[in-house]
Order: sequence, then C-alpha cells, then structure tokens
Amino acid sequence: MDLKNHIEKKISRLNRLARNLWWTWNQDAQDLFEDLSPRAWQNLYHNAVAVLHELSDTELRARLRDKELSDRVESVLLQFENYLDDSETWALSNAKDLAENPVAYFSAEFGFHETLPIAAGGLGMLAGDHAKSASDLGLGFVGISLFYREGYFQQSINKDNWQTEYYSLLDPNNLPLDPLLDDEGEPVVCEVEIADESVQFRVWIVNVGRCPVYLIDADLKVNKQHFRDLTKCVYGGDNLTRIMQEILLGVGGVRLLRRLDIAPSIFHMNEGHAAFLVLELIREQIEIGNSFQEAFQKAKNQCLFTTHTPVPAGHDRFTPALMDYAARHFCDQLKVSANELLALGRVDPSNPNEDFCMTILALKAARAANGVSELHGSVSREMWRCLYPEDAASKVPIGHITNGIHLAGWMKGTARKYWRHKLERVRPNADWSKELVKPDFWALAEDSSFISDEEIWSLRYRLRRELIEFARRRLYAHNNIFEASNFIKFDHLLNPDALTIGFARRFATYKRASLIFEQYENIVRIVNDLRLPVQFVFAGKAHPKDDEGKRLIQKIIHLSKHSELKNHLVFLENYDVHVARQMVSGCDIWLNNPRRPLEASGTSGMKTTVHGCLNMSILDGWWREGFDGTNGFAIGGDMNPEDAEEQDRLDSENLYNVLCNEVIPCFYDRDVNGIPRAWIEKIRRAMATLAVEYDTTRMVRDYTKKYYLHE
Ligand SMILES: *Cc1c(COP(=O)(O)O)cnc(C)c1O
Repeated sequence: MDLKNHIEKKISRLNRLARNLWWTWNQDAQDLFEDLSPRAWQNLYHNAVAVLHELSDTELRARLRDKELSDRVESVLLQFENYLDDSETWALSNAKDLAENPVAYFSAEFGFHETLPIAAGGLGMLAGDHAKSASDLGLGFVGISLFYREGYFQQSINKDNWQTEYYSLLDPNNLPLDPLLDDEGEPVVCEVEIADESVQFRVWIVNVGRCPVYLIDADLKVNKQHFRDLTKCVYGGDNLTRIMQEILLGVGGVRLLRRLDIAPSIFHMNEGHAAFLVLELIREQIEIGNSFQEAFQKAKNQCLFTTHTPVPAGHDRFTPALMDYAARHFCDQLKVSANELLALGRVDPSNPNEDFCMTILALKAARAANGVSELHGSVSREMWRCLYPEDAASKVPIGHITNGIHLAGWMKGTARKYWRHKLERVRPNADWSKELVKPDFWALAEDSSFISDEEIWSLRYRLRRELIEFARRRLYAHNNIFEASNFIKFDHLLNPDALTIGFARRFATYKRASLIFEQYENIVRIVNDLRLPVQFVFAGKAHPKDDEGKRLIQKIIHLSKHSELKNHLVFLENYDVHVARQMVSGCDIWLNNPRRPLEASGTSGMKTTVHGCLNMSILDGWWREGFDGTNGFAIGGDMNPEDAEEQDRLDSENLYNVLCNEVIPCFYDRDVNGIPRAWIEKIRRAMATLAVEYDTTRMVRDYTKKYYLHE
C-alpha cells in the first residue's frame, strides 16, 4: 500500500477508535487524543470524536506523515484491534452459550463518560460499568436504553446559592454514537404503540468495547411533539411522560432486538423502569397461540430483575387512570381485561384502588430477582414479603449480588500510569488491563518491597494536589462573574497538606449531605486547628423538583462562603463523571453517611481505593461487607434505631467521634520523616481487600454464574 492510502486507512481506523468507548479506559489511547490537540481536548471536554472533527483530515494527513506520531497511533490502534479480536476471553471458556444468545440488559440510563451525559446517578453508572466489564470479559451482551437528546441537566448555582438547571443539546454526529442503518444505508425505524397511537423511533449505537448499547430515539418528524419529547430529558417529565418513556424502553427494546435478529437468552431489567418488556414477551407468545398462563410462564423464564433501592420514590407507581390512558392497548394485545392487566402490578390483585407498580410487575414476571448488597437483599426480602404471603421473609425469592465499579474506567490517568509503571517493573510482559483486575496484583499493595510507604505517600500528595488545582480552577471559572475582585483568594483556597474529606453524590434526602455540619461548633474547631487541619470538598446535584435537596446545597455553599469554614470547605458545581474522578482520587477520606438501610449499595466509595483514599462510612450498602476493621473507618455499628430523628442525632455524634478519635489522630501520626505509617497501612489494606472485590469484573462474573447461565 502506498503511503497515501496507508494514511487514509489509518485515519478511518482512528475515527473508529474515537467512536468506541474503549479509549476511555485505555490510557495510551486517551493520551493520544489529548496530545493531538491539548486545547481542543480541554475545550471539548475530552470528546475524542469532536477532537478529530476539530483537527480536519488535512491536518491529520499532514501530521501522520511524521513517523513518530504515526508509530504511536499504530500501536494504539493495534492494542484496540487486538482487544476486539481477543479470542482468549473469560466468557469463551465460561459462558460460550451467551455468544450466540446474548444478555439483553435494559436500563433507563447508562453512564459511560463525561461526553455522553445520559445518566442521572449511580444506577446509570452501574449500567455503564456493567457493559464495560461485559466487554472486557468477552460476554455476549447488548444494552438497551433511550437517547436523551438534552441529556441529564447541568447544574449551575445562582447568586442566591440556589441550584438552577440547564440543558445542552447533544449532537449525535459529534459524539461516540453510530446511527443504526439497514442494508440500504437508511436508518432502521421501529414502532411501538403508546396511548393508542403508533410511535416510531430510530436508534443510535454506543460501542462499548465489544458490546453494543442501543439507544432509542423518538425524535422523528412523523411523531407528534409530545412523543418526540419522550427522548428529551433523563427523568425530566411528569408521570405521564414517565410511563410513556417506559413503554418505549421496554416494548421498543424488545421490538428492536427482534428487528436485529438478536435472540437474547435472558432479559435483564436494571430497575423496574424496563419491566414493560415483559408484556411484549407475553404478547409474542400469545401471538403464536399460547394461552396467557403459558405465555406468562415463558416470558418469566427469560427475565431477571435487579432492584436498586428501598426508597419508596424509587419505585414507579401509575394510577389505574394513567394506565388506562397510556397502556390500554396491552389489554387487546394480551387478551386480558383492564383489571387483569393492573393485577400484574399490584400487591392485592383484587384491590381496585391500588396503583400499578413497575417493581411489582418486574418481581412477578422475572424468574429471579436480586438486590445490590447483602443488607439490601435482606431489606428487599422484608419489603416485598407482602407479595409472597405464605413465606417467611427469609424465603422470599430475592437474592443479592453486590455492586462493583469498572476499575480501569474510574482510575485517574495519574494513577493508571503509576500502577502500570509499577506492574511493568515486576511483570514486564503482562497485559496491564488483565492484570489490573487480578487479586494477586492488588495483593502486592501489602508488600513494601513492591511499593514503599514513601511512594504511596508521594502518590497521595500528587493526587491531592491535582484535586486542589482542579477545585481552584473550577471555582474561579464559576465564581468570577459575581465576585471578580475575589480571584486572588482562589490561590488560598484549600491546603495541600491538610486531611481532605470528600462527599459527592446526588443530594437525595436520605443521603444526608449536611449531616456533618450538625456538629457545627466542633467542625469549626477541627477545621481551624493549625496543627491538624481538615478540609472538605463537596459536590452533587439535587433532583430539579427537590427543593429540600436544593436547600442542602444552598446551606453548604453558604457555609463555604460566609462562615468560619471559609477556605476550608468548597462546593464544586455540576457534579459529573469528570468531577467524580477528580474527587475520588484526590481526597484522603471519602465520607458516606446515608440513613441506614436506605443506601442499597453505593458505588462512589469503591472508586477511591486504588487512589489511596479511605472510606469513612455508615455500615450500609457495600461498606457493611467491605469494611473489615483494618481497611478504612466505620461510622457507628451494625444496627440502626427505627426512629429517623434519633438516627440522625446518633449518627452525627458517631461521625464526629470517628473523625476526632480515629481519623485525624491516625492521619497526623507522623514518624521522623513525616510519614503516617499506620495510615498508609490502612491504604495498603484497602487496596488489597477492596479493589478487586468491588470491581464489576467480579460482579458480571457473579451475574453470569448465578443468573445468566442458570435456567
Ligand atoms: C459513582 C457515581 C455516582 C454514584 O455514587 P453513590 O456513592 O452510589 O451515590 C453518582 N454520580 C456520579 C457522577 C458518579 O460518578
């Protein structure tokens, strides 16, 4: 091939790489896109597709004539292509049947990367991480979701410290999305019935390594405006929008899979949002002559349901009137009466006043169900015992698989490079991405000949420093409109030597973001202790309709600007994947203080471990299993009072006590070289005991063995 053709070929391979999210968890690929245009990389918020557009083919052609760059591109492309073609995956020897008949994983949201903001929180992040690990394992897996063209809201804070929301239009052409086209190159269009009308949709593909995730898009001219808007915002509308979105997701997803000739061996419902898929599976069976009972049983045999929260608002309920308006057509399709349809989503089938609950539909129509941590499993069994009146709670058929995170994806670049360098010294020929999720690699963290205390401490300084620089830049960028004269002060914000405590998550009430400030006088005192300084970094979004959550944000920002906590407390606007990655890596302590047992799992704390940040958490969700007495800190014990007020009071005391009696003394207990040996011992323990256990590789393997392959 002549050089010109060679370069054209390389450009098209590079474009393919940019459109596959694999690059987001491969450091060489990420560095390459950044180095192509550091400025565009920053301005376009790490969007590889947009960076390539910005560059133009003419510039790329010229630059690829440079041998050094060309070799580097080639090496990244080979890594990528080898990954896609890898024939020695875990699934090939452990889940071969799923290659032919994949897992179809339905989720109303997927979080992959900051450039594709179509997730609202932990549920979506988990779905994205599930897909990434399914790809790494070589599992037969396809995802189904909606393409929200305005995504999840962006947060800005007005001069009253009040959260306001804005939406930015996502342009599929400038994102890692491919249109789903038919053989003639025309967009594939499918159809669902909603509220007695026909709604058409097209589809975008997100390439997650080896796994496609299909995003349904109803924004077509043939549809009426209110149907087009079904794929506008993540959880944006009222209950009518919600039920219609869920029909689109569940029924539309099944129709799409049929259109693509994909015959899943299992339909995994990530939360109840997708449960209408069951009705479509039943309809298919009835169409080929089965009775309702037979059809129901056949549909049920193909479905798995994961429930994600004990919080009542997390379980969609629709009134009979709403069901009659939006979902009446199911009665004709399934040949059932309205009451029979409603009964599928009711605890008491004969109660005409009971709403239709998506979780109940999912529980009734799945062959297996699970919660997302051990405690959440048992809380869910208790919660849904009403559906199985004969059984004791322990017999309720809901199991559990504890969540994880996709380690490579959540690792900050600094940490990825650091650990990879370490690995190469001991195992020069090892494949980094595979080693990373092996227990024996992280067991090395306890070996001081592999990594010394000094090295760990220096990594901590680097990551903390990077977070502080990030926080200063971000606060400056967001605040200079109102406080232009203030900018000098941003250099004094936060102290690179101080114990840095992070808290970032959705501002849902049960997460109690401001709990620590219940001990205001005490916190002021420790924050201003010049010998043992402590500081706080907060971030998080409240649901647009949740004024109580917004008041908590307002309170924290107010404290950060106008109290004795000023300069020691900051709130970072617009929490997203990028902000999360900065925080879980830069902080020393990751604080989590939910009202137990409402945090089903929690995942942000899992992202901290490999950065040397320690968890300090209520023994709820995953931390109740993860904490072993040596690898972090527990707030309170393995119980909680029933009364919420009493619980808040006790927990705020416990929180302060752990902080004061354990965390601060341990962090500041330095030897002659200024190294906190006992603290670093905890970091080592956390790496060795938590990193691999709470990775989605383990989680997806568990799902496969326990549920996907099980009849
Ligand atoms: C990890 C993550 C979450 C989930 O965090 P929890 O601890 O489960 O609340 C939510 N949002 C973003 C942006 C995240 O990265």
